[in-house]
Amino acid sequence: MTQSRQVVIVGSGPAGLTAAIYASRAQLSPLVIEGEPSSTSDQPGGQLMLTTEVENYPGFVDGIMGPELMQSFREQAARFGAEYVTAKVSRVELSHRPFGLWIADPDAAEPDYTADALIIATGARSLMLNLPNEERLLGYGVSTCATCDGFFFRGKEIAVVGGGDSALEEALFLTRFADRVTIIHRRGELRASKVMQQRAFANPKITFLWNTAVIDVLGDTKVTGVRVRDTISEEESVIELSGLFVAIGHEPNTSLFKGQIELEENGYVRTMAGTRTNVDGVFACGDVQDHIYRQAITSAGSGCMAAIDVERWLEEQQAAH
Ligand code: NAP
Repeated sequence: MTQSRQVVIVGSGPAGLTAAIYASRAQLSPLVIEGEPSSTSDQPGGQLMLTTEVENYPGFVDGIMGPELMQSFREQAARFGAEYVTAKVSRVELSHRPFGLWIADPDAAEPDYTADALIIATGARSLMLNLPNEERLLGYGVSTCATCDGFFFRGKEIAVVGGGDSALEEALFLTRFADRVTIIHRRGELRASKVMQQRAFANPKITFLWNTAVIDVLGDTKVTGVRVRDTISEEESVIELSGLFVAIGHEPNTSLFKGQIELEENGYVRTMAGTRTNVDGVFACGDVQDHIYRQAITSAGSGCMAAIDVERWLEEQQAAH
């Protein structure tokens, strides 16, 4: 049976959960459809669940673990009445109000939930290299999450692909387990912040392989190595290792909304006048609409904005009727 809700929030990272805190305190009884546990970033709690220490979230002098921070967000919203559904949305219908949301069966005639107002906070996910054997070996030595899988590489030699903050953060974390971590980067210069570069350069377990592209992952049932190409000499070679961590950036989780709301050319949701989308009653916050700042604190800030925008929008709707 369809359940009617005033406010539904899809996504439970810092943006979705901050929207839930504000919406529940405004007595809008939000329902948060939080996602399902998985090894990628589109799981409950979002990307901070795949992080270790968060040192730049204001208020935590000594830092806090990402999952612990998200658990606090979740409990804080629940305290004011937010409800959670641990599931993924399989289909949305945004052409008329109330909006329809399907969970288990996208082909069902009736939606599982309807929403007077919808907040999209589905975040972004890790990009993959699209190598011939990458997907087959995902979970068997190929990973996008050092926090989840680092433990399996105790005493092993592994590599991280990428030259941004994510790659360096993953590599630094992995030195707790692995004997040697090679950062394979396609250029001769890192994109990461100076402080992360300094930490990586100073770590004796980390080595760099510059101007090198990974062209395939090797192994039958688990990773045994990677085939790489020197981007200058074009020479190919094989490096033996037991794990490959891909840390080359992210893409927004917007496939659910394609064709129904306006997206930017790069796939992120287009927001205007705060967190409004081009569909009246649909709002978006966090990494799903922000490819510039992408921080927990900016996501949380935009989640707060979305809840305030929804509250005002609902008041406008009531005043008009
Ligand atoms: P990013 O800054 O976009 O870096 C992606 C890296 O992957 C780049 O070095 C890029 O190479 C490389 N890359 C992209 N596609 C590739 C491909 N197909 N094959 C090989 N290499 C590829 O992404 P990010 O590191 O995820 O960071 C995203 C944002 O989050 C940044 O603003 C970052 O500062 C922030 N962040 C901050 C922290 C922190 O403060 N602790 C941690 C993580 C992320 P090129 O350099 O050649 O383009």
